[in-house]
Amino acid sequence: MALTWLSARWRLVALGTMFCTLATAIAVFGGSFATRAYLDQAASRVQTTLRLAVAVLDGHMKRFEPLPALIADNDDIKELLADPENPELRLHGNRYLKEINAQLKSSDIYVMTPDGNTIIASNYDQPVSFIGENFSYRPYFQEAMEGRPGRFFALGTTSFKRGYYFSAPVTVEGSILGVVVFKIDIEPIEASWKGAEYEIIVYDPEGIIFMSGRPEWLYGSLQPLTPERLARTAESRRYANATLRELPVTWGYFQQAHQLLNITESGKRTEYLVLAESMEDAGWTISVLFDTSSARAQALTSTAVALLLLGLAALGGFMLWQRRARLAERLELQRTAREELERRVEERTADLALVNRRLETEVAERRAAEKQLRKTQSDLLQAGKLAALGQMSAALSHEFNQPLGAVKNYADSALLLVDRGRVAEARDNLLRISALTDRMASLSRHLRNFARKPNEKLGPVLLDEVVGGVLEIVDGRLKAAEARLAIDLGPRPLWVHAGAVRLQQVLVNLISNAVDAVETLPERVIDLAARVDGDKVTMTVRDRGPGVPPSIAERIFDPFFTTKGVGKGLGLGLSISYNIVKDFGGELEATNHPDGGASFTLRLNAARPVTHEAAE
Ligand code: ADP
Repeated sequence: MALTWLSARWRLVALGTMFCTLATAIAVFGGSFATRAYLDQAASRVQTTLRLAVAVLDGHMKRFEPLPALIADNDDIKELLADPENPELRLHGNRYLKEINAQLKSSDIYVMTPDGNTIIASNYDQPVSFIGENFSYRPYFQEAMEGRPGRFFALGTTSFKRGYYFSAPVTVEGSILGVVVFKIDIEPIEASWKGAEYEIIVYDPEGIIFMSGRPEWLYGSLQPLTPERLARTAESRRYANATLRELPVTWGYFQQAHQLLNITESGKRTEYLVLAESMEDAGWTISVLFDTSSARAQALTSTAVALLLLGLAALGGFMLWQRRARLAERLELQRTAREELERRVEERTADLALVNRRLETEVAERRAAEKQLRKTQSDLLQAGKLAALGQMSAALSHEFNQPLGAVKNYADSALLLVDRGRVAEARDNLLRISALTDRMASLSRHLRNFARKPNEKLGPVLLDEVVGGVLEIVDGRLKAAEARLAIDLGPRPLWVHAGAVRLQQVLVNLISNAVDAVETLPERVIDLAARVDGDKVTMTVRDRGPGVPPSIAERIFDPFFTTKGVGKGLGLGLSISYNIVKDFGGELEATNHPDGGASFTLRLNAARPVTHEAAE
């Protein structure tokens, strides 16, 4: 994990360095690239504007260019120049020029004699008139006097109005008699440049601005005003008395592609993109200046936006990286936790498997022990049963021998009595024999009952019959111990849910124990009572013996627990009885009577009586 984290760190550092490099590259080259792009755009627009301005200016001048030659060809003009002092011809000429000037919407038209004096002019009747002025210093005059059409732009020395001059010689029979001059106004064109998005200027070959949408730039020079330049300008008096000055400009280039010009005005420096076109015919250069501040601002904004986007991308990237790092960390933690859990589960599983194996072994051992115990128990039970059977057989043989002896005596004496004819006495003997046989039959029935298998069916059992059977069995024992059994079965008949033989066995056991308890005592009375208690029937066997000591009370129902001497008790009587009663769904408990002696309570479910018919 540490390794992953470290490599992630290095990746972040690498990305950070990349970002810084990219940001620097954008800041340095992006700005310049964007500026170049915006200047390219601007230059193409400026180029269009420049072409348009050239076309307008050119068209405007072309309209007037042929007109001086046309007027020079006028006969009246020629006539006047032949006789320059003729006042009539002058007046006529003046009117003619004024009329044409008005029609052509030119600024001024005037005619000069070869010495340069103006003799007629369209503004002859104006306060400021050219008449009498000498313009021989103007190049347009000199050119015309040399027989060529002349053209010149200048500030009027008389009118102080800027204009463009076209001139033509007036030739009569090969000699030049004078010069016709047309001056056109350039101010309307200049006015159309004002307030435009671009600055349009026109400057002369010396670099002095002659036309400009910005009046403050007029007569300003884009080049240093050297004495040669000033001398050349003074010669033609192009700018009359106007004050010439150098404009605070610096020239430059942007990436060798765009000509830039900086002009500082009232402390504020403005940078312009410059495109210029020289108008050879007109003798000037027209130039369009575009303020680069908007393009630079756009470039700056674009660069800033690019930087911002880069910053945002970097921020987004960083956040993404952080999220991924956190996620990776969490996943790593989860993986560790899972592994730890799996390890613990494996450990626990191994522990459990071990415990399980031990338990299985233990269970197997216990089962074997239990099996062994059962076997031992059943062996012992068998032994107990056999012992009981032995006891019973002894008791029965004693019981049978007595009546059999009596039967023998009665039969023998009956034979003698019959021989002597004492039939009535013999009959009496026979009746006694019959009674004794009945008793023996009863004993034999009891024996049969014991021989029966214990899995007799449970059902309604009449308590009187069971008690009757019990009495027959215990009678001998009671007599031997000289004990008395006091029976109180309450209101009868009492029916209980049990098996008759086994219930007899239980009662025999309880009564036998009671006899054992009272055998050596003076009061040898045993109570056998039965009562209905709701849906139960409760029977009690109470003696007046020593009772059950509390120390052994819990153990008397255990198999083979006995306090009687060897050969006297097997310790099975109460255990067998307890199990039999449980089989009946009843309860057997031992208490000590408050007046002394043990009291065994047998609680059985009451059963519905069985009618005689149903029984048959
Ligand atoms: P056993 O009679 O062979 O000893 P039992 O299971 O019938 O076996 O009785 C177990 C023991 O319970 C007796 O040894 C005796 O200590 C005690 N016991 C049973 N009945 C009485 C009784 N009526 N009075 C006092 N103790 C009794």
